[in-house]
Amino acid sequence: MGNVAENLSVVRDQVASACLKAGRRADEVRLIAVSKTKSAEAVREAWDAGHRDFGESYVQEFLEKLEDPLLAGIQLSWHFIGHLQSNKVRQVTGKVAMIHGIDKVSTVEELSKRAIQQDILMDYLLEVNVSRESSKYGLDSSSLIQAAESCFRLPNVRLRGLMTIASPDQDQARREFAELRENLESLRRTAPDPALLSELSMGMSQDFEEAILEGATMIRIGTAIFGWR
Ligand SMILES: *Cc1c(COP(=O)(O)O)cnc(C)c1O
Repeated sequence: MGNVAENLSVVRDQVASACLKAGRRADEVRLIAVSKTKSAEAVREAWDAGHRDFGESYVQEFLEKLEDPLLAGIQLSWHFIGHLQSNKVRQVTGKVAMIHGIDKVSTVEELSKRAIQQDILMDYLLEVNVSRESSKYGLDSSSLIQAAESCFRLPNVRLRGLMTIASPDQDQARREFAELRENLESLRRTAPDPALLSELSMGMSQDFEEAILEGATMIRIGTAIFGWR
């Protein structure tokens, strides 16, 4: 460690170049620093370098970081990017700015119930398995519209867009990112409030340039910022 600030600055430059290449403004892409398995010190180092958006994948580890004195009382936005099971929803409701990894209507129903109890509004994304790898979580593109329709009706939760993890091959990844963008466009045509559906969470250390070229609004970068896990 010790070079988190430097890594961040390299990644920010790469994001800016990718945006330029895509003809997009750099502020259209939010960089989420994925701190899973990394220490609160590493998060603090990124925060000290001006970074504010962080991603965590494991509920228990996330809750421990929240309690860490190094991070107490500072302003930052947490994103829950791991696959979220229904029975863990309660533990993250009200503690994150956005939940990225939901792939079941029943999980959104649970989120709605918990958000009502806390009298808050929770933003979330639906995860789509565009690579169709059976090892990955996510809805099929074909069942997305129907699932989203059940979700739109639920109170205290807002579907803000879609998330995916692409295949390792970069050319294939780019096609999958395009498919996610097309999925979002279809969803907007059926949504009661299309303007809310503005987010595409896609792209990681290996493929964020491809994701930006295909319209990513949030990229989730771990290794390139915090080093190997
Ligand atoms: C770990 C993880 C990332 C970050 O991956 P890197 O390859 O380290 O950048 C992004 N998204 C999700 C869902 C992850 O679990």
